[in-house]
Amino acid sequence: MQCNLWNVITPAVRTTCFKQYQQALPAIFHQRNYSKAQDADLVVIGSGPGGYVASIKAAQLGLKTVCVEKRDTLGGTCLNVGCIPSKALLHNSHYYHMAHAGEFKTRGILMDNVKLDLPALMLTKETAVKQLTGGIAMLFKKNKVTHISGQGTITGKNQVSVKKADGSTEVVNTKNIIIATGSEVTPFPGITIDENTIVSSTGALTLKAVPKRLIVIGAGVIGLELGSVWKRLGSDVTAIEFLSSIGGMGIDGEVSKSFQKILEKQGLKFKLGTKVTGASKSGSVIKVNVEDAKNPDKKETLECEVLLVCVGRRPYTEGLGLEKIGIEQDQRGRIPVNVRFQTVIPNIYAIGDTIHGPMLAHKAEDEGIVCVEGIKGGTPHIDYNCIPSVIYTHPEVAWVGKTEEDLKSEGVQYKVGKFPFMANSRAKTNNDSDGFVKVLSDKNTDHILGTHMISSVAGEIINEAVLAQEYGASAEDIARVCHAHPTCSEALREAALTAYCGKPINF
Ligand code: FAD
Ligand code: NAD
Repeated sequence: MQCNLWNVITPAVRTTCFKQYQQALPAIFHQRNYSKAQDADLVVIGSGPGGYVASIKAAQLGLKTVCVEKRDTLGGTCLNVGCIPSKALLHNSHYYHMAHAGEFKTRGILMDNVKLDLPALMLTKETAVKQLTGGIAMLFKKNKVTHISGQGTITGKNQVSVKKADGSTEVVNTKNIIIATGSEVTPFPGITIDENTIVSSTGALTLKAVPKRLIVIGAGVIGLELGSVWKRLGSDVTAIEFLSSIGGMGIDGEVSKSFQKILEKQGLKFKLGTKVTGASKSGSVIKVNVEDAKNPDKKETLECEVLLVCVGRRPYTEGLGLEKIGIEQDQRGRIPVNVRFQTVIPNIYAIGDTIHGPMLAHKAEDEGIVCVEGIKGGTPHIDYNCIPSVIYTHPEVAWVGKTEEDLKSEGVQYKVGKFPFMANSRAKTNNDSDGFVKVLSDKNTDHILGTHMISSVAGEIINEAVLAQEYGASAEDIARVCHAHPTCSEALREAALTAYCGKPINF
């Protein structure tokens, strides 16, 4: 039949068809060859904490797994331009501040001529990023996860096409797909980010010089962490915040107030209840227009050399082809999923920053693991009330579970157990005793409902509170567990003891 048809068409049409076939041949050959070799059980799009952890777990559970990543290095926002580089700068800027501001002197350590070598400080950060992103590549090899570098698009319910840097396309046919494409900076209407003087968090991680004045729009997590970095390195930092409190979503009101006082003592300035309405460049100065959030007639213009825009992040799904396959997003761009992380197409899943919940690396990781276990037939479960939050300033702020404001609005009767670090022997010994621990427990059952703390090591201590809450512990349970001495964790025990019986030992 084909032969007959070929014979009846004119020689000119035959020649054109043949030419077109010849031109298309490399792509057809490439695709066929590839799909034969690369049929997969699972394609994960994105290699951030959600995607890379899901890929490794899937491979460990016996799924033939491909992870597609468009960035040159693996690890997503977290490792490349998020958690890791920001923590490297926070850690080392804290050392610089200690040395420079005379903190070491009070400890009997004298040093002269302390100077900042910003390129070297940046290099330490870059080395950490390089080592850790390279580490994921090694983990992929070890666990037999196939890494394809390129932009992934879902071209069918069982197909992902990857556009590579050389212009070629690779197609992978797969039983399941996980979307783990993360998030991007929420733009500020009317302010164009150039990552040079008007920066997002990404630009604020790579400034070439310490700005004389830095204005931060948004006193949320990024504003406080990166504001702290540049304040310690010598900038005059002002954070402008629309709300009347700092620390972003989910922070306990009392903790937020106390935290603000500590940061103000360090020299950070806050303009709360203030809305940024626009910004413009005038030579090397940026003029930032603000107005009172409640009284728009109260206007002011502030000036700085660098402006950091950090008013939140939004899911990133560009180029995925969601519309074509019928996956809709909510008003905030999030992909709706059920408890198994399935989208409306049951074999296509979504995790991490692309879905509901806090935009945190460890939340994305847990979803990746649980999602894959679900694909293998397990029963997925995550208690979102047990996901900790940490702000890595000095001191750190950490919490898990309900705030006092939550419990009041839910009408829950609760007890409060508080313990200050100035009464904790280790914190005193370290001369680092700003902060307190607050344990909230059910008034009737003593079950722990929430734990909130400010401490130089809050990010470590909080994990004990998370474990306790995950296992449904009571305040008495923590109070009766032997804690090593002298440690800052003893403050958690004392706060739990106070919640349980009203009386701490050491305060
Ligand atoms: P991401 O890490 O964003 O990874 C998504 C990946 O998908 C990216 O690499 C992207 O290139 C890739 N991708 C997107 N589309 C495609 C496509 N079509 N094809 C192929 N690849 C694609 N969280 C914490 O818990 N602790 C912290 O200390 C912390 N600090 C932070 C500091 C900063 C400055 C920022 C910006 C964020 C921070 N976060 C922190 C948040 C954390 O980085 C995110 O919550 C986390 O990275 C989300 O993980 P994810 O896997 O969902 O997505
Ligand atoms: P955020 O939501 O923490 O804070 C943004 C702040 O900007 C809010 O307090 C908001 O009220 C304020 N704001 C919004 N519009 C404003 C305006 N016009 N004028 C003044 N203030 C305004 O967002 P972020 O700091 O950009 O961080 C983004 C995400 O990254 C967060 O979801 C966070 O979870 C994640 N992150 C986490 C960590 C960590 O876990 N340590 C660190 C960095 C980032």
